[in-house]
Amino acid sequence: MAKNLRDFPLQYIKGVGPERAKLLLRVGIKNIKDALYFLPYRYEDRSNIKKICDLTYGKLETVSGTIISAELIKTPRKRLHIFELLINDGTAILKAKWFNQPYMKKVFKKGDQILLCGIVKRNSYYGTGFEMDNPEYEILSDNTETHIHLNRIVPIYSVTKGLGVRQMRTIIFNVLETYLNEIEDVIPEDILKRNGLRRLNECLYNVHFPETGTDIDSLNKGVSKYHRRISFDELFMLQLGLAILKKRKTIEKGISFSPSGRLLKYLLSRLPFQLTDAQNRVFNEILTDMKKPQPMNRLIQGDVGCGKTIIALMAMITATECGYQSALMAPTEILAEQHYLNIYRLVDELGIKVCLLTSGVKDKPFDIIANGEVNIVIGTHALIQEGIKFKKLGLVVIDEQHRFGVMQRALLRKKAYNPDVLVMTATPIPRTLALTLYGDLDYSIIDELPPKRMPVKTLVFRESEKKAVYNLIYSETKKGRQVYVVYPVIEESEKTDLRSATLGKEAFEKIFPSLKIGIIHGRMKPQEREEIMSKFKNGDIDILVSTTVIEVGVDVPNATVMIIIHAERFGLSQLHQLRGRIGRGSHQSYCILLAYEPIGEEALRRLKIMEKSSDGFKIAEEDLDIRGPGEFFGTRQSGLPDLKSANIIRDYQLLKSARYEAFKLIETDPEIQNYPLLKKSLENFWKGKMELFKTA
Ligand code: ADP
Ligand code: MG
Repeated sequence: MAKNLRDFPLQYIKGVGPERAKLLLRVGIKNIKDALYFLPYRYEDRSNIKKICDLTYGKLETVSGTIISAELIKTPRKRLHIFELLINDGTAILKAKWFNQPYMKKVFKKGDQILLCGIVKRNSYYGTGFEMDNPEYEILSDNTETHIHLNRIVPIYSVTKGLGVRQMRTIIFNVLETYLNEIEDVIPEDILKRNGLRRLNECLYNVHFPETGTDIDSLNKGVSKYHRRISFDELFMLQLGLAILKKRKTIEKGISFSPSGRLLKYLLSRLPFQLTDAQNRVFNEILTDMKKPQPMNRLIQGDVGCGKTIIALMAMITATECGYQSALMAPTEILAEQHYLNIYRLVDELGIKVCLLTSGVKDKPFDIIANGEVNIVIGTHALIQEGIKFKKLGLVVIDEQHRFGVMQRALLRKKAYNPDVLVMTATPIPRTLALTLYGDLDYSIIDELPPKRMPVKTLVFRESEKKAVYNLIYSETKKGRQVYVVYPVIEESEKTDLRSATLGKEAFEKIFPSLKIGIIHGRMKPQEREEIMSKFKNGDIDILVSTTVIEVGVDVPNATVMIIIHAERFGLSQLHQLRGRIGRGSHQSYCILLAYEPIGEEALRRLKIMEKSSDGFKIAEEDLDIRGPGEFFGTRQSGLPDLKSANIIRDYQLLKSARYEAFKLIETDPEIQNYPLLKKSLENFWKGKMELFKTA
């Protein structure tokens, strides 16, 4: 937009004074641009207002009539307030009811012309007549223009107290009337043409006031040809930012490692297994990156248990060989500790110095990190935030972190390091999301599990079937196997009825008096946790009751049973992660999802997905479908700009086109010098975050 419509305050709009402006602010409209992009959440086809006598039961219909009675009725039982309205349109009478909203009485007057939209019902008592429960309404006063409210497809906005839909519609209409011609299209012409996109002002107008005949379904789904253009713009801006970020990295100077491979060979010869083809392929991709003079930025994705740790270690050793330090960051202390133990065991003999840096470590090894004595530092994600001084940091590995997003990675570079970065995640990210969340990264997938793994048998049980679960625990522990019991929270809070891990442990002790039962949770000191973990690993504990702290990475091959209590409260991807803790040895493993009443059909169906699928990707997609992208990955936390119109799942095809165009543009014009308006718009879209993208 040439004249920045952001700078136009709302008072410029007809019908908006200071009071209204305050109300508009409440729904997030600060300026003209916000108003233009305040999209309807729904549309109503009022080109088709029905006569009451022609209504169809069970259908969503719109009628218009005069109020002939408006009364508040109190039922003696349950003290229910019902507000009843009768309207007449000359063909018949319709009754509308609102429950427990006594203030509705003040809204309507006898004689008012109104419009009602709702599902048509039969009168429950007489079995005839027409009724609507809680219909949407609009009062039609005769002195305002009706052409935007009636006889057309009408936009419905979310509003706030003191500001009705009708007023909002009028305001938006006035904004469009006044400013439509000021809107500038910043997207290059050829991009619009190639993608069959319409002009922005045409789309902005129609997305609010669609032309008669526009498919109402596509409008309501937010995928009409008008929405498409607006969504494209957002996705294009998003991808353009990522494209710039990625491009800048390729011109950044990084480390060009030239390893001899000596240490690596030695490490591989000491492993009790052979790398899978997928592991070899992915490591070669990493190695190629490391040898390049630009910094590596690669995401390694691989289902739980596919063997990412060893790949990370191989990369770190490669850095060691070249005289550089590496940092491995895990999401939890317990995982950092476990990585430390595993890695220490493997590389100590090679003369490689590894140290652990977590809050639990008493004498923090700051000086030996700073003087370069340490080759590999293992810690939590806080490691980088605290700005520890390294002598010569060459590689950063971020383990199990899908939330370590675009912004965090940019921050890492701001800290004046320019190391190679490897992000590893077991949370399968549907491609749809990966393109955005990791849109600036290169991407490898380890799509093969080590051989001789037996798939975990997963079974959903109800609480009432607990006996069978106990039997399974009994028979498995008798064979010398071990059991995880996972609880969603640690202490019983008054309000929820979650079975806490502590109570759970006591219960298990009663049921299995001869078994050794341990507990591990997030509030324990790291040292205590480590003790428990090593006891479990050594077989000194049969049943380990835990909260979700064991979620990622913990490796005990002899544990063959996992009972997940209140499984219905977990996300599917989380369940999949947990399940990945078992099935690591050569014995058959069982994952029991214990569901508690009341559990709905939907929740049960969701859990059943786990019985059928062991494919993390498939599960992630189902999860995404059920929970939506925001909750799924905390896109908010990723620091990416909010999208108003586009939805990266629904609009996946559009996202792909936008990404293609954005990357193509940046290829030839890395700093967008040919399109100054686009550049300005882009900076607004990223709201100053682009700054972070600049090289330190
Ligand atoms: P994740 O990818 O979930 O982090 P890990 O790296 O923890 O998986 O590996 C899981 C287990 O598999 C570890 O015990 C590891 O030693 C073992 N492992 C890794 N690669 C192989 C392989 N190629 N063959 C057999 N076992 C392997
Ligand atoms: Mg791991």
